Amino acid sequence: MLPKPFLMARPVLEHIEKHNHKAYFVGGCVRDLLLGRPLGDIDIATSAAPEYIQEIFPKVIPVGIEHGTVIVRHGKESYEVTTFRVDGDYTDQRHPDTVQFIDEIDKDLERRDFTINALAMDLNGNIIDLFGGRDDIDHQIIRTVGNGYERFSEDPLRIIRALRFSSQLGFTIQSKTLEEMAALREEIENLAVERITNEFTKLFAGDYISSGISYLKELEIGKFLPVMRDYPDIIHSIPSTIKPLKSFGEVIALFHILHPEVSVKHWVSSWKCSNKIKLEALQLVQAYKYFKTKEMDPWLVYRLSPEFYAGFCRLVNILDHSAINIHELIKIEDQLVIKNKSELMINGYDIVELFPEKQKGPWLNHLLKRIEKEVVSGRLINNKKEIKDWIKWNPPEID
Ligand code: ATP
Ligand code: MG
Repeated sequence: MLPKPFLMARPVLEHIEKHNHKAYFVGGCVRDLLLGRPLGDIDIATSAAPEYIQEIFPKVIPVGIEHGTVIVRHGKESYEVTTFRVDGDYTDQRHPDTVQFIDEIDKDLERRDFTINALAMDLNGNIIDLFGGRDDIDHQIIRTVGNGYERFSEDPLRIIRALRFSSQLGFTIQSKTLEEMAALREEIENLAVERITNEFTKLFAGDYISSGISYLKELEIGKFLPVMRDYPDIIHSIPSTIKPLKSFGEVIALFHILHPEVSVKHWVSSWKCSNKIKLEALQLVQAYKYFKTKEMDPWLVYRLSPEFYAGFCRLVNILDHSAINIHELIKIEDQLVIKNKSELMINGYDIVELFPEKQKGPWLNHLLKRIEKEVVSGRLINNKKEIKDWIKWNPPEID
């Protein structure tokens, strides 16, 4: 019996077939099914044109209609449905200049990157394997579909993807494929950074991250990557205790802690990361530095968003070889007097009233921060009177 995500997607394939078109599960989901790994997205390939898919399904989002990809919403799920296609030339090494839609899946599988990803499965569970993908899965090998020189020069991102799959699956890169990657590695510089960041996020999160990192070192890929090209030591300073990091914010935090001369801001802008990643990296760095001087206490936990607790534990475990447990953080969080600055029983207006003669300035925030820290640390009771008394004995510093 197929795993549930496949069963849930079946009606989508059935609906396409009812309209006399072919439809298959394709790519990573078939690979992961054969490997018995947790499934990511279920992708579907079809002979039907994207406009036709839009006609026969009620909820369709045309995400990449010119490349033949739409998203079909079914129940609560979304499926990428892509029309069988062959790619034209890749003059910009990012997207094929043209794509041509076709009726059969064979040539569509041929355009895919690695044999393990060039698999399709029909509704009856028959697997289409034209390039020995199953064999490569059995032997745990990453190998390009067809000539690697051509495939990597068409789209150099495939070089990074090979590392990413070795990190996720623990597979060995076939020696010829590895040579071809080495020969074309400088082409990576032509890629849009966002695409690299996306693959690296998965690389660092892989269960076999040491395998991905050792290929990264062996091929000296860092020479062609933002920031790493200017700081060749970074890759080599990755501790042998490295374990999967589940977000790129954790990766940036790790690199900044190992190499403080490269700021978080510089990483974020060079790798074109989101503000969310920046915030995560900054919070993790702050928490880690504090942890190194003061150990784990309420003030550390208070300033770290609960969504980053697990990442913080991963960082400490890698950097300090010591196991801290997320439950320790959760326990401290449960006992916090306040969870948020807005819960303080005093605010900026109250303080201004206490010092009518003083001009507003940075002293105000500074004082509020001190009060916040005293309250969170349990040295000051969170009530207006107590706080006002405390202020008398701890007057604001003159700016
Ligand atoms: P994941 O489980 O991380 O989603 P995946 O194999 O599904 O892994 P995706 O990036 O989602 O990887 O791509 C889906 C499929 O599209 C791949 O399995 C592969 O067949 C094909 N593919 C994706 N990117 C490329 C590429 N750059 N060149 C060739 N084929 C690609
Ligand atoms: Mg996928």
